[in-house]
Amino acid sequence: MATAVVHYLASAITDRGRKRPSNEDAFGYSVEDGVYVVCDGMGGAAAGEIASSLAVDEVLRLLEGNGQSEHGGTLPDGLAQAVAAANEAIFARSQRNPRLSGMGTTLVALAVQESHAWVLNVGDSRGYLLRHGQLEQITADHSLVEEQVRNGRMTRGEAQRSPLKNVITRALGTQCRVTPDVFAMETKPGDLFLLCSDGLTRELPDETIAAILREDRSLAEHCTCLVEAAKKAGGQDNITCMLVRAEA
Ligand code: CA
Repeated sequence: MATAVVHYLASAITDRGRKRPSNEDAFGYSVEDGVYVVCDGMGGAAAGEIASSLAVDEVLRLLEGNGQSEHGGTLPDGLAQAVAAANEAIFARSQRNPRLSGMGTTLVALAVQESHAWVLNVGDSRGYLLRHGQLEQITADHSLVEEQVRNGRMTRGEAQRSPLKNVITRALGTQCRVTPDVFAMETKPGDLFLLCSDGLTRELPDETIAAILREDRSLAEHCTCLVEAAKKAGGQDNITCMLVRAEA
């Protein structure tokens, strides 16, 4: 019989990178509630930072105590509701304050309960799973160029060179409603989830990320190695990575 997953370990890090004056990424997690979130904000002045931290705080706050809930099946619904509420909170705040007008954020979230996991995303922050040494991207970017690639209208190389590569097609807080993608899966002991902002994935190809994660290191050391590698490769943007490992 296969060993069941009984708990999860996590570590995360965020870094301004080498070119940006501030860090508009945000992250937060609660191992107790089984909720993990990475956001990458956008907007003028401090608006991006406000949007990303508001999203992280709202999602964690709304799912607080979830770990004690006996209604196990409701976690993915709870996560979707929390993300919808975070969207409304950011949108309402930007409507009230003209200086924050247009602010928004990406969001990638992982919710886990025993051996069940759900990954939810809006925008181009990504969720990956490393299983048996193989790295797979779980999420599909909501970005103009990635959608063109998926439709066969653009090659991967053209997408990487495109001046439109920063344009995302879905964000939290820019409209009164948002539709996230949700991916459900079963976890096994040893599974390693990576949630990250595009400051990591623009600098490092998946093979490089996988090679780093295959080394024998602690989760915190993995996070530091990923950030250092992304900075060495250019560090053009803020870099955030969060690792969550399923343990027997
Ligand atoms: Ca970014």
